[in-house]
This record gives sequence, structure tokens and C-alpha cells, in this order.
Amino acid sequence: MPAPRIEIELDKITHNARKLTALYGSKGICVTAVTKGVCGSLRIASALLESGIRSFGDSRIANIQKMREAGLDAQFILTRSPMPSEVEHVVEFADVSLNTEISVIRLLARQASKRGKIHRVILMIELGDLREGILPSDVESMVAEVMGLRGVKLIGLGTNLACFGGVRPTEAKMRELSAMAGNLQQQYGIHFEIVTGGNSANYQWFVSTPDVGLVNHLRIGEAILLGCDTLTRKPIPGLYTDAFTLVAEVIELKTKPSRPYGEIAQDAFGRVPVFEDKGNMERAILALGRQDVDGSAIKPRIKADVLGASSDHLMLNVSGLGLKVGTEVRFDVGYSALLRAMTSPYVEKVYLPRFHLTVRV
Ligand SMILES: *Cc1c(COP(=O)(O)O)cnc(C)c1O
Repeated sequence: MPAPRIEIELDKITHNARKLTALYGSKGICVTAVTKGVCGSLRIASALLESGIRSFGDSRIANIQKMREAGLDAQFILTRSPMPSEVEHVVEFADVSLNTEISVIRLLARQASKRGKIHRVILMIELGDLREGILPSDVESMVAEVMGLRGVKLIGLGTNLACFGGVRPTEAKMRELSAMAGNLQQQYGIHFEIVTGGNSANYQWFVSTPDVGLVNHLRIGEAILLGCDTLTRKPIPGLYTDAFTLVAEVIELKTKPSRPYGEIAQDAFGRVPVFEDKGNMERAILALGRQDVDGSAIKPRIKADVLGASSDHLMLNVSGLGLKVGTEVRFDVGYSALLRAMTSPYVEKVYLPRFHLTVRV
């Protein structure tokens, strides 16, 4: 088989999506599956459809266009605030977009009107993570203006936490979002179809909350794909954490010192590296680099340590493991590694044949 490659077990992804939609559904929460971590892969999107998912979110309109044009029977949500330069595509390919800028919503409205369409809009509220979001003090006037625009329909309110600032989606934050949604509904005599409380990081809030309030929707990527709670990166009970396996091949294997020798200046990426002297070690070089993967977000499934990576080489300490040149090494991937591997044209995507899973709960 070609290397490097990422092996994808679709049944495990279907299983994870089924489990999570059932879990969230138990308290009335709908799930949109977020596909940006896998480049909007059609095979994965189909596996998600099989789980019953009928709503996909992606940050890239190109991924949404691909899924839409493949005829996937679902709703598509653009999860990144649209660029003014892409509103035409957004209106054409996405049913819904998450928005924070009135100028962009005006452009969406104009484009949609021109095409005789209604584009559906969710307003995102800043609750402290400091990525996208309308400041709570500005929401009222924004709602009023959006309601007055032809071509767009305001269908909901949402927030995104634990992405940039690492801010935890707590009970208090979710109450704040619910209260805001409730007040706006009352004030304007409207009904929000969607109150979207967050992403994979909302798991702990969900399992512990006595009352989800008005939150009726989550946008879930990593928990479906990698089976973990993203606040701690611990496995979610009953989910597979190994649906993806990265495989790379050894191209050099030699016993060398653990510390570079000579005068030390900058490495290939402008940093001055520091290595501890641990004596000689068996070092493997794998044909895998930063063009393929985030080397700091992969974990070998053998007892090897990742020493570092340059653009095209990954260095491992493989002392005592009996590897050879040509041996394949298998890795677990974290989200940033998955993202890059799925994006890199150099990493072969291998969808494994379907098989019957013995469900592990
Ligand atoms: C990426 C993203 C998500 C999904 O996040 P996960 O941590 O993968 O669940 C949800 N909402 C928005 C706005 C995003 O950008």
C-alpha cells in the first residue's frame, strides 16, 4: 500500500455519530456534523448520512460545494463567517451561514434576493473565547436590522467557545446564551429555530446540565471523528478514538547520538533547538513531514518517541524495537494532524472495507 497514508474506518465514524446523536437527542439537541477536519470527504459524509445525520457544517464553501454537487441529501451550514468576496457562492451552495458582520449579511441578502432565494442566517454571540461573535450589547440592533432585510431569514442564535481562547462552555455561559435568545424572541415576537450552543467541547456541559435551556443544537466535528471530549482530549465512553490511522515508512535507521553536535544555530523553521543528551539511541527517519501532518499531534502505536519533524522527515527514537528500513509505523492522530493529513495531497486516503464491528461500550 502507498505511504504515507491515512486509513479511515468508516464504520467507526458512523458508530460515533450514531452514539452522539442519540446522546444529544436524549435532551432534545440536534447535531450538525462538522466536516472541515476531513476536507469535506464525500466518503466520510456518506458514512455520516448512514448514521442518520442530515445536517453538515463546514468552514470552507469549497467543501460544501463539493458535498452539495455530489447530491448528498442534507442541509449545509457554512460555519465560518463568509468573506464578502464569496457571498455569491455562499448563497448558491449553503442553506445557512453563521454570521457576525452586518455588512456581510447585507451582501448575502442582496445576492439571495437577486437569485430569488432566502438565505438562512444564524447570529453568533461573543461569550469570551474571542474568536467570532457579536458583542452582547450590539445584538439587539443587529437582530432588528437583519429582520428588516429581504433575502435573508434570521433562524437562530449561537456561540462558539473553547476554540481560540480555550474558554469552557459552562452552565453559566449556556444560560447566558439561552437568556439572550429568550429575551430577543420575546422582544421581537420571533421564534429561533436553532439555538446552537457550541461544538465538541460542550460534552461535559451536556452530560452534567440539569436543563439545556433553549439550546437545541450543537455543531460537532472532533468528537465524531476522534471520539474525544475536546476540553480534556479524553475518550468519550462508547466511542472509537481510532477511526483514523496514519501510516508512514522508515527510510533510515541508525544508531546516532541523541544530541546534535557542532555549532548550533537555527533549524529549518527559525528556532534554535535544544536536545537533552541521553547518549546514543536508535533513530528512525520516516518519510513523513510537516507538509503531511502536524508532527506534534501524532502518537506512535509502538513504544517510540517522536523527536521532531522537518518538512519531509519525521525523527523517532525507536531504541530496542527491532524496526527495519521499509517498516511501516502506525500512529494515532490528533485533530491538527488529521486536518493536515486530510488536506495534504501527499497523504493517500485509504477507506477500509466495511466490516462488522463488535460494539464496545
Ligand atoms: C470547527 C467548528 C465547529 C466544530 O468544532 P469541533 O471541536 O470539531 O466539534 C463548530 N462550530 C464552529 C463555528 C467551528 O468553527
